[in-house]
Amino acid sequence: MNQQLIQDLENTIQNIPDFPKPGIQFKDITPIFLNPKLYEQVIADLANFSRGKIDAVCGIESRGYLFGIAIAVALDVPFILIRKKGKLPPPFVAQKYDLEYGSAEIEMRTGQIQAGQRILIHDDLLATGGTTEAAAHLVQKQGAIVSQFSFLIGLKDLQGEDRLKKFNAEVHQILQY
Ligand code: AMP
Repeated sequence: MNQQLIQDLENTIQNIPDFPKPGIQFKDITPIFLNPKLYEQVIADLANFSRGKIDAVCGIESRGYLFGIAIAVALDVPFILIRKKGKLPPPFVAQKYDLEYGSAEIEMRTGQIQAGQRILIHDDLLATGGTTEAAAHLVQKQGAIVSQFSFLIGLKDLQGEDRLKKFNAEVHQILQY
């Protein structure tokens, strides 16, 4: 637990009530990028969690890219993009998942992770865990191992962590609300 980092992030991340819909407390992480020293500390924390334990990082579109690529570079491992439906050229694998209303689909190029590799799945924020769970299925479909999940923020009330338990992977959230 890095109490100073947690406090600095709490003071930096902005809570926007009722965005994009009434009842949602939107966590705006963009002020982190106004403070390069704080960004460096976030990357150091996330890289420390995964050092020596993973062979590749998969980042979830789009805010998962903002930190995921830097984690991969810090650990000298490949970074793979998980994208929303329709953005990637073939060949790719796809995974559907349920949203509050309707469903969505994410995709990953095939051949970018290898069977047996230990994978970190990273996103900025864990809410219901639906997106992250779908990402983990994409990794498993290719024979790779879901070893770790990391997030800057976890929203405790939405119990996303429970949904990830079945993967038996380590979970790191720098701070929780
Ligand atoms: P979920 O699939 O419910 O875990 O949703 C996770 C995705 O939605 C992440 O990529 C987040 O960036 C985004 N998200 C969900 N809830 C919030 C929130 N309250 N504030 C900011 N982003 C959110």
